[in-house]
Amino acid sequence: MPTCAKCENDVKKVYDCDHTDYEEYCVECYTELHYYLTEKD
Ligand SMILES: [Zn+2]
Ligand SMILES: [Zn+2]
Repeated sequence: MPTCAKCENDVKKVYDCDHTDYEEYCVECYTELHYYLTEKD
């Protein structure tokens, strides 16, 4: 099972992109990251 690079929880599915420096984040951390990125715009 993959592990989130941010919260270190074991999760079923992970997501990455340039914003996470291509580290694997769980959906909660990934969504939260993009939420703040969107807020800054
Ligand atoms: Zn996480
Ligand atoms: Zn992104």
